[in-house]
Amino acid sequence: MSNFYHTLENSFVTNLSGDALRFANGTAWSYQHLHERVGEIARVLAAQGLKPADRLVVQVEKSAENLALYLACLKVGGVYVPLNTAYTEAEVDYFVQDANPTLFVGQNQRTDVKTFTMDERGQGSLLECVAAHSDLPVPTTVIRQPVDLAAILYTSGTTGRSKGAMLSHANLASNAINLSTCWGWQKDDVLLNALPIFHVHGLFIASHCALLNATPMIFLPKFDAAQVLELLPQATVLMGVPTFYTRLLLQAGLNHASVASIRVFICGSAPLTEQTFNAWEAATGQRILERYGMSETIINTSNPLEGERVAGTVGFALPAQEFRIADADGAPLQNGEIGTIEVRGPNVFQGYWQMPEKTAEEIRRDGFFITGDLGTTDDDGRLSIVGRAKDLVISGGYNVYPKEVEGVIDKIPGVTESAVIGVPHADFGEAVVAIIVPSAEEVSIESIQEYLSDKLARFKQPKVTVNVDTLPRNTMGKVQKNVLRDRYAGLFSEL
Ligand code: AMP
Repeated sequence: MSNFYHTLENSFVTNLSGDALRFANGTAWSYQHLHERVGEIARVLAAQGLKPADRLVVQVEKSAENLALYLACLKVGGVYVPLNTAYTEAEVDYFVQDANPTLFVGQNQRTDVKTFTMDERGQGSLLECVAAHSDLPVPTTVIRQPVDLAAILYTSGTTGRSKGAMLSHANLASNAINLSTCWGWQKDDVLLNALPIFHVHGLFIASHCALLNATPMIFLPKFDAAQVLELLPQATVLMGVPTFYTRLLLQAGLNHASVASIRVFICGSAPLTEQTFNAWEAATGQRILERYGMSETIINTSNPLEGERVAGTVGFALPAQEFRIADADGAPLQNGEIGTIEVRGPNVFQGYWQMPEKTAEEIRRDGFFITGDLGTTDDDGRLSIVGRAKDLVISGGYNVYPKEVEGVIDKIPGVTESAVIGVPHADFGEAVVAIIVPSAEEVSIESIQEYLSDKLARFKQPKVTVNVDTLPRNTMGKVQKNVLRDRYAGLFSEL
């Protein structure tokens, strides 16, 4: 039986009286309740025609019912397709058209597919249907093969059409088991989950660790630094994006005592700067465990739980998984050389939904997936991410890796953070531009160039700096470099 929900169910029944979800208002759902709720929702999904391999597109706010809906979809063999709640109706139109679902759960009634809401009651309420179907038997968990699809995650799609990454039951299971071992999950762990669950991080990385071990999650609809700090003493694990940590660092109450119950702080989805890593250690005495993952592969690499966690690196491949730093043809490079990160293992997705050519371009014949991230390894084999391939700046024929320049600029007194981009330039092809968030006074290009003069080669130094209040970020805290590139595309034609 390869249905991943079957594996979870087997775990739930070992702890039915234990808490599955704890809410900020002091109430909780036991594993018994979650298990029953999943069964009840599965009954409605099946009654409404969701058959094995059918897609269920979901765009709803995070809630316990939302988590149960996901699990119910797995149970009946459906393919779960979660959408970012920030997507507009026009964007949702595209996803619905592309995924061609049997059912849609979201706020707006649609004419092209049977639609339900997650409202308590009212027209099209899924939960009202759950109550109405209480006489029907709960369906048994549908048998699935390891390669059968469990979910499609649409990538954020900063260039071109957003692609649907197809993840199988075996992809989900192998990574959940791997993470739970690597991060030493314990029976008394309590995970604080303040991440969205329409994304791989909150759903497949965070939630799966807790569910697979039938341990409790403090389940918050969104991240609020003050609330998270208040709840930390009730948790043992926090998983977050770098912005969680930078915002928590601004809280006056953050100190060694406030995090005494935490076994491990885990971070990923965007680069954690060395400054944040060090500031966190200084404030709390704990070293954040950074890991590297993506929609197509869930988690690729992780710093070790036992052993040195090195700032600016994302550690080693998980067991039974591999990575290599390769040139454009997939040939492995030496330690210290920069190339594309390619990964292989049971976590690698099944391809892009209805895009066989894209899939063939990005998954090599030998099974390695070309991640699109650039990286390098040190002599110990630790991986460091240098940036996205598409963010690479080529100025005057030289490669400039934005992360290297940002790392140095971020150390300048008076700089809170920075983003380095390439902007079209008549002479250089692209010119390096630094977008700076100053802590107080504006930071001038002269002061930056002076600081960098003995630290970075001339061609890596920014030609221009722009001071801004904040950097544009998506929900997962990633700086949207495509937005910056568009915004400053005309910088040199205007000069
Ligand atoms: P997504 O599919 O939305 O999860 O985005 C995946 C991308 O996030 C990866 O390809 C990386 O570019 C980036 N990413 C994830 N984890 C890290 C990390 N620890 N450091 C730097 N970038 C990361």
